[in-house]
Amino acid sequence: MHYDGMTFRPPYEARSLLLQVTRGCSHNACTFCSMYRDVNFAVSPLEEIVDDIAEAAWAYPQVRRVFLVNGDAFCLPADALLNIAEIIHEALPNVQTIGCYARIPNVAAKTDEELAALAAAGYDNINIGVESGLDDVLAFMNKGYTVEEARRQFARLHAAGLPFNVNIINAAAGPKRIAEHAAANAALVNEAQPTLIFVSPLHVDPGTPLVGLIERGAFEECTLGQYLEEEITFLEGLELDDCVFFGAHVSNPVPVTGWLPRDKQALLSALRDGMASIPREQLDAHPAKGAEGSLR
Ligand code: SF4
Repeated sequence: MHYDGMTFRPPYEARSLLLQVTRGCSHNACTFCSMYRDVNFAVSPLEEIVDDIAEAAWAYPQVRRVFLVNGDAFCLPADALLNIAEIIHEALPNVQTIGCYARIPNVAAKTDEELAALAAAGYDNINIGVESGLDDVLAFMNKGYTVEEARRQFARLHAAGLPFNVNIINAAAGPKRIAEHAAANAALVNEAQPTLIFVSPLHVDPGTPLVGLIERGAFEECTLGQYLEEEITFLEGLELDDCVFFGAHVSNPVPVTGWLPRDKQALLSALRDGMASIPREQLDAHPAKGAEGSLR
């Protein structure tokens, strides 16, 4: 298999076949992100993808889900994604679904017909790092879209029958805006009705523009306790019909996972109890980075 540079996948894709279709991220400019800083974006040659699928068919023929890597594989044109799906299904007949990371502009660049065709081809629960429900926070993060654009693309994905997961970064608006950020994030996610929400703290990774912004006093980092306060307020505001709440990444100070709405009170209790068990000096410190120093 070909894996160039860093490869990331969501924790819940641990059993999926990771198939590299690009190197790096086509955006590679989010203020907080260190994941692909040293990787030049490139699309994998089709022959390489075909070779990797053939190798997987030999080594992992029973695989049921493929996760396309790297940073935003959904940036590929729809016809390329459809061609890759066809090759996957031909060589790996047990594959039922295909996932990948996707940016809001990747979705916006596809027509309604293309999104529906991708869903019909098996694309399912694509993972979108929307991160925030506040425009100024999205601009600060240099995400490259507005809340309204995100709302529009979520509605288009629903209309196309293409389910999606969303990532939310709690504590990304700083300590003075915990309630505001939690409420805006909950409102966006409630409207989006994703399959899964992945929550994580904002990390300050070396080598990112965020470090300089903090050093210049342009941003104030939340403490671990403030992060947990925001995660709890965010969860309190969620009104979802059928969604996994995933807060069990290595960077989550109190790991919790459950189904909403069924487990909402149990999740809140676990977060409050977990927060109460953490010593005050740790709550007043900044969140630790994930083991791999990333949000994924
Ligand atoms: S957060 Fe995602 S979209 Fe932003 S630079 Fe990192 S990999 Fe790319």
